[in-house]
Formats: sequence, C-alpha cells, structure tokens
Amino acid sequence: MDPALYRGRFAPSPTGPLHIGSLIAATGSYLEARRHGGQWLVRMEDLDPPREMPGAADLILQTLDIYGFEWDGEVLYQSTRADAYETALDTLRSRGMLYPCGCTRKEISDSAVHGIDGPVYPGTCRHGLAAGKTARAWRVIADDREITFDDTLQGHLSQHLSRDIGDFVVKRADGFYAYQLAVVVDDAAQDISHIVRGCDLLDSTPRQIYLQQVLGLPTPGYTHLPVATNRAGEKLSKQTLATALDLQRPVPALHRALQFLGQTPPSALLNADLKTLWQWAFLHWDPERIPRSRSIPAPA
Ligand code: GLU
Repeated sequence: MDPALYRGRFAPSPTGPLHIGSLIAATGSYLEARRHGGQWLVRMEDLDPPREMPGAADLILQTLDIYGFEWDGEVLYQSTRADAYETALDTLRSRGMLYPCGCTRKEISDSAVHGIDGPVYPGTCRHGLAAGKTARAWRVIADDREITFDDTLQGHLSQHLSRDIGDFVVKRADGFYAYQLAVVVDDAAQDISHIVRGCDLLDSTPRQIYLQQVLGLPTPGYTHLPVATNRAGEKLSKQTLATALDLQRPVPALHRALQFLGQTPPSALLNADLKTLWQWAFLHWDPERIPRSRSIPAPA
C-alpha cells in the first residue's frame, strides 16, 4: 500500500506504568508502522479518571521516549475530546439508535444471560424508562447484524451483536464516555488505517466495527497480538500487579518483547545499545513470525 496511507497508533490508558505486556503492544504496532513506511501516533486514553493513576500519563510518555519510540505529531488526550464524543452520540440519537437506561448493574446481572463479555443486556429500557427509573447510562441499540472481520493474525472472526453482547453502553452512568465509543471516534479522527493491539480487545472489535458502520466511519485493518499472561493465566496488567518497565535498562525488556513477538534478536544484542537493537528490529522485523495464538505466558 501507499506508505503515506499507513497510520498506526498506540493507545495506552494511564492506569499505571507500562509493563512488558504494554511494551509488546507498542513494539508490534510501531514496527508494523515502520515496516510500511507509515506514521505511528500515540493517543492517551485518559477517559476513565476513577481508574487512572496520577502522573501515569507523563510516566508512560517518558517511558516510551526512554525506550526509543518516536511518535508522529502531538499526543491526543481523550480527556479533551468530549465535543467529538457528544457529536457522535447526537448522530446515534438522530438515527433512533440511542436510549437512556435506568438499570443498575445488579438488575442487569440478575436478569440477563451471560454473553462473551459479561451479561447480555436484556433490553429492559429500550422502549422507554420504566416508571420511577431515572436515566443512568446511554446505550446504543445492537441490531441483528452479524459482524465479521479478518484479523491478520487471528483469522476470520464473527460476532452476532444482539445475541452475544446486547445493547451496549456508550456513555456511562458516572457521566464518562465508554471506551468503545471514544476509540472509534478517535481512530477515525486520527485517520488510523491499521490497529495493532493485544488480543484482550478482540471481543470488543465487533462493537467498534458496528459503531463505525452506524456512524459512517471507515473500518481500519486489525492485527491482534497475543497477550502476555502471568503464571495464573491472567493478562498482565496493573490489576494483576505486572512489574513496571525498568527505565534504567530498556534493552533487555525490548529484547524480550521482540522474542515474545516471534522475532530472533541475537543474544549478543543484549549487550548492545538501544539504538543498535532498534536498528536490528527495523531490518529484521517479520510479522509472519508472530505467534497466531491469543495468549502466551510472559517471558521471564
Ligand atoms: N486503551 C486501551 C488499553 O490500554 C487500548 C485501546 C486500543 O488499543 O484500542 O487497554
């Protein structure tokens, strides 16, 4: 493809410092963008203040810098994007696809069947709030469509939104915008052509493609990398107490991330400087070598 058209991105949430799992996602998306001669953007997904850690956004950018990532343009902060998200909600509203929901979490889990990502919303408020209920969240109607897509690593995937997910929240009861909405609006606003990220977001992708379709936005290409798991088989994250990346010694962690992604950096490069390791990676990066599984135990 025309290199000018390839635009990738890394979109961390500032809930804590970067760890080996986030480094793997950043490295995969960066090297794919470089391979295509395209651009690579960083977007700070700071739209969930209750889960955020003070100082994490700056620490993440500092870490990326120390690890030798060079991003294009300014970092986009989702906390500045409320107008764009409201415009998208207006579009959904004008198409009759948005409605207020007064159900509590407990009411939903008591009455719903379990889907692939929690309870499938039973549609209680779809035709109006029941007497005595006040609007809490805003949901988009998930119609009967089957969403299918081809992931470059994970293959052909499909999801039936109304059966597997149900009407889903696009603006939360606490007033914050839902990740699913914000990510779609911003990927389009930033002209992202390819999304390379962890498999933990694979089940979210059909909701995002659906929102792209109903909002009239383009659908980018998708590559979902295997996620690193701990000994208990859980995805490494702040919640599972993943260790923060070492800011003093970027080379060993980057070397491990490359190995995790199926690449074969010579062990001698463990003693090289960071620039030399990146040069090796730019020259030898081969996406065909990335394991096609959804999760792999984290490298020691
Ligand atoms: N902000 C999300 C996360 O840190 C990633 C979003 C995305 O890549 O689409 O898990």
